Amino acid sequence: MENCLETARKREKSTSMVVVSLASTMGSANGVEEGVKVRRDKVGLSWVTGDEDVRFKILYCGICHSDLHNVKNEWGNSTYPLLPGHEVVGVVTEVGSKVQKYKVGDRVGVGCMVGACHTCENCENNLENYCPKMILTYNAVDYDGTKTFGGYSDHMVTNERYIVRIPDNLPLDAAAPLLCAGITTYSPLRYFGLDKPGTKVGVVGLGGLGHVAVKFAKAFGAIVTVISTSPSKKQEAIEVLGADSFIVSTNPDEMQAAMGTLDGIIDTVSAVHALVPLLFLLKSHGKIIMVGRKAIAGSCIGGMKETQEMIDFAGKHNISPLIEVIPMDYVNTAMERLVKADVKYRFVLDVGNTLKAA
Ligand SMILES: [Zn+2]
Ligand SMILES: [Zn+2]
Repeated sequence: MENCLETARKREKSTSMVVVSLASTMGSANGVEEGVKVRRDKVGLSWVTGDEDVRFKILYCGICHSDLHNVKNEWGNSTYPLLPGHEVVGVVTEVGSKVQKYKVGDRVGVGCMVGACHTCENCENNLENYCPKMILTYNAVDYDGTKTFGGYSDHMVTNERYIVRIPDNLPLDAAAPLLCAGITTYSPLRYFGLDKPGTKVGVVGLGGLGHVAVKFAKAFGAIVTVISTSPSKKQEAIEVLGADSFIVSTNPDEMQAAMGTLDGIIDTVSAVHALVPLLFLLKSHGKIIMVGRKAIAGSCIGGMKETQEMIDFAGKHNISPLIEVIPMDYVNTAMERLVKADVKYRFVLDVGNTLKAA
């Protein structure tokens, strides 16, 4: 793991103007090479901001579990150098001539994707996340054949369609995890109708995704039960996150007592685990919704319209994830702690203050 990360860090150092990634409609790519080489470069600067692009200075970047999977090539599709990070927030420093929604100084973010075809049925229905040609924020190949690089870096250039505006009242560091963990849980809560007051919602797993799911479900007015293997999480789930009840999934008495009580369950656990005991907790017509690993791999998340809607909702209800802000040089230690689930509940890299230019 460390080697891969080291590679990523070298890459990020060697590209001080850095990072990339867009489904550019500009064409005229020059191709990208190692280091500070440029694409779409006409004037000798790195990554010129295209007509429809927004360039922003990255201030914070959340560390998602999928960053860890990618760094370690656990999904078998990693190519190196690899620069992770898809919970990216910062401040706009430049906009292209055709950009309409953003201006210099705006607080913005980029989540899991930076491109899609814009013509298929999914794209036309604001479901870019299901577009067969969707381009992930990092470790993906862009339309011009270059690689995309994520937010463990200092700048990002992306088509404005993939930019989200961060509400003024949300702290930028805590807003970062909303861009993956937030939309990945908000979207299924909405889609599966678990967003109605009084709905009885179970949340399995209390990590980066689960704790945001609890906050969103509570803001929708749902009655929320956390289901976890760790009794030690009970107090925080109820007192800090606002859950209404807590079930220890390994306690047969507690599971028995909750049989047939839930309208739906959001399952955020990516490790292999039994689903049948969870089924018994559902009312008839109840449903279990799996997020997490699949979502991170790109089968879920949420479209750009809904991502903006999610973050506006978070602003309105003052929902911000619980985070631990860390300096860039702590990233390898953070990855090791992530393996042990030793974080409450999301690491966020303090890119703006601690990433030193090469
Ligand atoms: Zn993620
Ligand atoms: Zn499409």
